[in-house]
Amino acid sequence: MDDAARARLARLMTRGVGRQVTLVGPDGEHAAGEVRTERYDARARVLRAVRAAVLCLAAAAVSVLIPVAHFVLVPCFVLACPVAAWKAYRPTRMVLGGHGSCPSCGADLVIQRAEERFPLRDVCTACRVSVTIELARTRASPVEPKHA
Ligand SMILES: [Zn+2]
Repeated sequence: MDDAARARLARLMTRGVGRQVTLVGPDGEHAAGEVRTERYDARARVLRAVRAAVLCLAAAAVSVLIPVAHFVLVPCFVLACPVAAWKAYRPTRMVLGGHGSCPSCGADLVIQRAEERFPLRDVCTACRVSVTIELARTRASPVEPKHA
């Protein structure tokens, strides 16, 4: 991990709510880790959707200036607008990212941003092993109500 990635991870680990996770390797080995999660209320979800839609429309507006390609780019960005807005609106909880150590090789493993649907899956960049990320069952971990 280079210095920029380390600084980005340190900044990320100050955001949201920290939750302990267990990283499980393909042969059942375990390692500990932490993810930062964020919950979006209705207002935040609408704002995220509006921002995604505005970005698509801005990309379409900029694409108007590109000769020939604008025949394809403008309709694509306009059609992508509701899709991007829906994708931004849908998640109520996100894993912003996190870190742990690979249960297989012990290397630092950076957990990527994803919608919060445990168990998550990630791949160790050092040994290319698929890692399952589960919420740790400890007293330090906040108890979350299950969705009906
Ligand atoms: Zn590994």
